[in-house]
Amino acid sequence: MLHNKDNTIAICGAGIAGVATAYYLSKYSNAKIVLIDKHQPLSFTTSKSGENFRDFWPQPCMRALSSESIRLMKELKHEYGEDAFRMSFSGYNFISHNEAVPIFSTQVDEATGKFFEEISDADIISQKYPYLNEKVKRIVSIKNAGAIDVYGMGSLMLKAAKMKGMQEAKGEITNIIKTTSKYDVVLDATKKISVDKIVIAAGPFMNYIANMLGLTFPIENILQQKFIIPDPNKIIPRDMPFTIYADEQYLDWSEEEAAFFKQDESYKWLLDKFPGGLHIKPEGQGIKLGWAFNRVDETPKWKITLSDYFPQIVLKGASRFMSRLIEYEKNIPTPVIQYAGYYTRTKENWPLIGPTKDSNVFVIGALSGFGTMTACAAGQLCVQYILNKNELPDYAPYFHPNRYQNSAILREIRKNKNDGQL
Ligand SMILES: Cc1cc2nc3c(=O)[nH]c(=O)nc-3n(C[C@H](O)[C@H](O)[C@H](O)COP(=O)(O)OP(=O)(O)OC[C@H]3O[C@@H](n4cnc5c(N)ncnc54)[C@H](O)[C@@H]3O)c2cc1C
Repeated sequence: MLHNKDNTIAICGAGIAGVATAYYLSKYSNAKIVLIDKHQPLSFTTSKSGENFRDFWPQPCMRALSSESIRLMKELKHEYGEDAFRMSFSGYNFISHNEAVPIFSTQVDEATGKFFEEISDADIISQKYPYLNEKVKRIVSIKNAGAIDVYGMGSLMLKAAKMKGMQEAKGEITNIIKTTSKYDVVLDATKKISVDKIVIAAGPFMNYIANMLGLTFPIENILQQKFIIPDPNKIIPRDMPFTIYADEQYLDWSEEEAAFFKQDESYKWLLDKFPGGLHIKPEGQGIKLGWAFNRVDETPKWKITLSDYFPQIVLKGASRFMSRLIEYEKNIPTPVIQYAGYYTRTKENWPLIGPTKDSNVFVIGALSGFGTMTACAAGQLCVQYILNKNELPDYAPYFHPNRYQNSAILREIRKNKNDGQL
């Protein structure tokens, strides 16, 4: 157990990762915690989350992390009451026009069979899912999956940590100075907070903070967008599960459009093959759509610029498996609520959680497109390291920042065919 004296811990970043770490640290220790953020807690990448969760992942370590997180989310509801935050088991349906290709590495075997069920009977598909295009050949439904109210869950954890004495500090961390036995965290270039340990939980800006301490993590920041539109033609049933098109595709442009894009360097990419993973779900009376096709790593910015064509591209792609969505591609219903955030990720799409080369500096980050569903287990794991626990879950080494020195883990990384990104 860590005690107050000589154990002040600064958590740098109050997104869901920093908040979950603060919660489990306050639950399992008496450490003095200062949670620092430039903005309101939970307001940067975390506020952009689609709030979806699932326990199926192509790799066992990710399956175990998200399963543990789902267990912890249920535990929170058990402790604070069913109404503490919304968690619905509305399911995930991966769909494909191809009967043979494994969807998202979902080959049924002993290890994976319990996570999902498959339907490939055309009659059952058309009866159960009449809104899908008639050529859809296969549906893989992840059973333990749905949506959570991330803001509700994060606020609950924040409040609980505050009740245990956690302090919040508002300001931009502009420097961290290592003194003989402490770290001075400098806010807005003026104020200093002296602490014994640091947790880097800065989302897309994790390397900005890490660099202040002479550290760098192997991450990339890739902007991904989503949008919400009304559904005046009632195309999407309100109880439709989160539905993901697993197939790659070329978009179906007209001859004139294709000719125009071909001769313009800035539009040529629209003729390239797009990846699988386009996703749709009902949102209130409207529809929320996303497609993480962008692959460009960029320097993160606080103010994000949105792309004008994104809704049209996604609706065109979506009409391939929900034919009626073409009605909206030609005439997008308004208002369109469009937003974006960074998937901060490692190449293999596994997070970074644990101690760094500096034994008093810890990291929880690179949570890519799975940070809200795995926050509880990630926060708990980070705290287990801070509290120097001997027993760690089996998945811990896979997410440790030093995993790139472990040849067995490197072999597994190289073997991965599907990084699980949606
Ligand atoms: C479009 C989109 C959809 C997504 N959908 C899902 C989904 O359905 N399910 C899911 O599980 N995940 C989803 N994610 C991923 C999830 O949202 C993220 O993984 C998660 O929110 C990351 O949390 P974080 O705490 O690491 O980062 P953030 O939420 O970005 O928090 C980092 C915090 O650090 C602060 N900070 C950074 N630098 C400084 C500094 N110098 N000084 C002070 N403060 C600083 C920032 O202000 C910020 O509040 C999605 C992400 C995006 C972008």
